[in-house]
Amino acid sequence: MQDVPLLISRILTHGSRIHGSSQVITWTGNGGPQRRSYAEIGARSAQLAHALGEDLGVGTGGRVGTLMWNNSEHVEAYFAIPSMGAVLHTLNLRLPAEQLVFIVNHAADRVIIVNGSLLPLLAPLLPDLPTVEHVVVSGPGDRSVLSGASARVHEYEELIEGRPTAYDWPELDERAAAAMCYTSGTTGDPKGVVYSHRSIYLHSMQACMAESMGITDQDTSLVVVPQFHVNAWGLPHATFMTGVNMLMPDRFLQPGPLAEMIESERPTHAAAVPTIWQGLLAELRAHPRDVGSLAQVTIGGSACPPSLMEAFDSLGMRVCHAWGMTETSPLGTVARPPAHAVGTDEEFAYRLTQGRFPAGVEARLTGPGGERLPWDGESAGELEVRGPWIAGAYYGGPDAGAVRPADKFSEDGWLKTGDVGTISPDGFLTLTDRAKDVIKSGGEWISSVDLENALMSHPDVAEAAVVAVPDDKWGERPLATVVLKEGATADFTTLRAFLADEGSIAKWQLPERWTIVPAVPKTSVGKFDKKVLRRQYAEGELDVTRL
Ligand code: AMP
Repeated sequence: MQDVPLLISRILTHGSRIHGSSQVITWTGNGGPQRRSYAEIGARSAQLAHALGEDLGVGTGGRVGTLMWNNSEHVEAYFAIPSMGAVLHTLNLRLPAEQLVFIVNHAADRVIIVNGSLLPLLAPLLPDLPTVEHVVVSGPGDRSVLSGASARVHEYEELIEGRPTAYDWPELDERAAAAMCYTSGTTGDPKGVVYSHRSIYLHSMQACMAESMGITDQDTSLVVVPQFHVNAWGLPHATFMTGVNMLMPDRFLQPGPLAEMIESERPTHAAAVPTIWQGLLAELRAHPRDVGSLAQVTIGGSACPPSLMEAFDSLGMRVCHAWGMTETSPLGTVARPPAHAVGTDEEFAYRLTQGRFPAGVEARLTGPGGERLPWDGESAGELEVRGPWIAGAYYGGPDAGAVRPADKFSEDGWLKTGDVGTISPDGFLTLTDRAKDVIKSGGEWISSVDLENALMSHPDVAEAAVVAVPDDKWGERPLATVVLKEGATADFTTLRAFLADEGSIAKWQLPERWTIVPAVPKTSVGKFDKKVLRRQYAEGELDVTRL
């Protein structure tokens, strides 16, 4: 067989030629969305690559950061930068300032492409970013905040204007770095994951499979998951492989505009973390809209509460649950029920699992003593994975080699996910917790996720997070932090009884410590930030009731 390297440039060339009339549709908030065909994206990506290489001196392996919303210019950067041999470094615009400074310096980004609306975030950091020589600004926003910046400032459109619309993309080594993304972990410094051309190509092929996101050129995908969060779950690449239109929300991520863009652009697929969908659901209940086009919704990043899945089902939007990590590109499992379960009582239970491993992701469970656990659907252990789109190490910085911390990689090279769960004999993963979130009460484990899901199925509860807190007698016990819906009246005794009666939670697992919070603190990618809750409890900032 021919040995053709699996390169991002091949995905770009395929999409812009074979699916040239497919579109990236970017929401602008007024005056109608911006529409750009894949053919135009291909031409503009070539122009951007010429500009970056010829004017800004970006060479093979050079890092180009993007501090951008989901929009068509960001898609252009996604393709131009890796295709020319440089490395795309997507910057998470919700990271605290000191972490942004850390990751730009660690990656040694030379250029940052930034949306004008994000300049107030970038400009104050520039004096601390010595490697950044050029800032390229795209889209609306006040440029004056950049006056006095030592980096050279360029306008995106002016920079690419008049450049050749074709580029002789180099034949790179498919194992070369194409993109990098730092983890948004809540402990320690962010860690850099470097994706290769090969890993992205193979991951994209599996993302398109019917068993996975199952999207075809008849679809329009609403890509809510940010392009700075694990390559928007591979969607920009998967859509260029298949000709799916991309509907990009830009900075309009609030429930109102999301509902509006669904009604007017009629996407058939969408992907985002549960928090976004909880918000959209509340919006649709308050202001009903026609969202009937949205047949399939991929939910991942955190466990999908059963109540959310049911609510979406009742609106005709079918949720497909998936699990992954920055380190797994991200798709690690997708919950499509097996044929024998479809139409039976088992179907919903299968859909609620994190999903089944695709070909390409090998998995094993490791017990507390390092022993291998069986796939019996009952033995819970830490999930370890390996495969061609799973990280084998973290980026050590420009002058250091790859880093393989022992708590993240096994001696034989598997990724230790830090997620605890079971695997059924037919390969479905059910996560019960993060290793660090599991509640260890009197030698037994209590799943914080089970308690949260049961609480969130109560009609008065908008959100709930459960964390372990120290307990003299049991070592640890659960603390339930609850966000009530507006006007809700449920008290803690009622909620506790509900957990036992409706939630099937064993009596010894029921929390005795309860508190109401205005909102559950979230991480930079919208997940529950339990570290903050634990700290607030330790410092006596929460008003806790003991039942
Ligand atoms: P990140 O690298 O920020 O995408 O975070 C990855 C982590 O998110 C995983 O290790 C899990 O703990 C969590 N996660 C992702 N998807 C799911 C899911 N479907 N259910 C439960 N946890 C999830």
